[in-house]
Amino acid sequence: MLSNSLIELDRAHLIHPVASWRGHEKAGVRMLTSAKGATVTDANGKTLIDGFAGLWCVNAGYGQETVIEAATRQLRELPYATGYFGLGSEPPIRLAARLADLAPGDLKHVYFTLGGSDAVDSTVRFARYYWTARGLPQKDQFISLEQGYHGSSTVGAGLTALPVFHAGFGLPMDWQHKIPSHYTYRNPVGSDPAAIIAASVAQLRAKVQEIGGAERVAAFYAEPIQGSGGVLVPPAGWMKAMRDVCTELDILFIADEVITGFGRTGPLFACAEDGIVPDMMTCAKGLTSGYVPMGAVFLSDRLYQVIADHAGAAAVGHGFTYSAHPVSAAVGLAVLDLYEGGLLENGRKMGARLQAGLAGLADHPLVGDVRGRGMLAAVELVTDKALKTPLPAAALPSQRIFDRAWENGLVIRAFGNGVLGYAPPLCCTEAEIDGIVERTRLTLDQTLEDADVR
Ligand code: PMP
Repeated sequence: MLSNSLIELDRAHLIHPVASWRGHEKAGVRMLTSAKGATVTDANGKTLIDGFAGLWCVNAGYGQETVIEAATRQLRELPYATGYFGLGSEPPIRLAARLADLAPGDLKHVYFTLGGSDAVDSTVRFARYYWTARGLPQKDQFISLEQGYHGSSTVGAGLTALPVFHAGFGLPMDWQHKIPSHYTYRNPVGSDPAAIIAASVAQLRAKVQEIGGAERVAAFYAEPIQGSGGVLVPPAGWMKAMRDVCTELDILFIADEVITGFGRTGPLFACAEDGIVPDMMTCAKGLTSGYVPMGAVFLSDRLYQVIADHAGAAAVGHGFTYSAHPVSAAVGLAVLDLYEGGLLENGRKMGARLQAGLAGLADHPLVGDVRGRGMLAAVELVTDKALKTPLPAAALPSQRIFDRAWENGLVIRAFGNGVLGYAPPLCCTEAEIDGIVERTRLTLDQTLEDADVR
């Protein structure tokens, strides 16, 4: 059992991310104590299937011995080396080279960060520097999508379009603009893929005009699948169409693959499946499978050369103490071995099973939409299927559904608007995938009994 003293210490001293501080004080912490494969165990000794891989990050699953060994070895040999002063260490060099080899097109240059938010921040800095280098410093406006998520640092949270990240924080900044999401289930133009793509293209062009033309716009950001906005999957061809507009207007196209990277949707990078090469690409999460923190920015060779030439003998003034951390990179290499050694393949098989299983829930009275790709999925709940009426006001039913799923031995993400998110580890077995689907159905059946969702 979780001791009361730990609950008290947590309540008194530990601030939790994106939480109601008062609500958390009241509810108290729910602690995990161990994990193996695709399951986690809580402080009461209850074992659950982790249908969300932590925070969509433990792609390789828990307890992978080769990863643990790689980290331990690196901690003993050289726990830290700075990349400043021309110094370096072997793991990040090897990891950058392997990633450059695996990334789409000419994304040959890798800048390692600590996570996704500072990877996104780094792209803003590189984009500004690039346009300055090209003699176009007035290209300083940035566009992203409604329902998009690009981190929680000040710059990233401004590109993020979720209101809770803005209210009270003075965001977004005046150079950060949004256009509507493709959100197929609730798109005003309907669900026809060609119409949705045409609308997004028109909205991007219109926003560029509104800002003052392409000569003012630095970059456009898109997640290949919008994660934190509710797992919103664009129609096939959407990424390509947006990439093409950016190419035509000479605006940088930045793909945020923090969630979709590293096998989450099937291939190593979702951009490959979309058939596009972005100018920059951000990653984190699955890069180290959450064992230790690390993110990365991939730069196209074209960008890299312009920046390098402009700086010449001067430093490009961007760096963190923990850029290219050797322990994180050693973990990254070990995790990459696992992906290439069969995990990606298992993830693809299990992803097909997950999508088929969740699609089978469409007959449930509460299920309005089932969507996803590979091991990334969502079930959107409604109280009236024809009217697509969302579940009543935010947090309460969602928290109840999360709690119930937990009771039923399943960890899911319950978004405030009644969307259930799934991102299980790629190492799941067939039985675990089936368990995710069965426990979801049980949870929905129980929820149907609630007066406020009937
Ligand atoms: N971009 C995307 C698409 C993300 O999903 C996230 C995290 N959920 C981030 C950026 C920020 O990453 P981090 O939380 O590691 O800073």
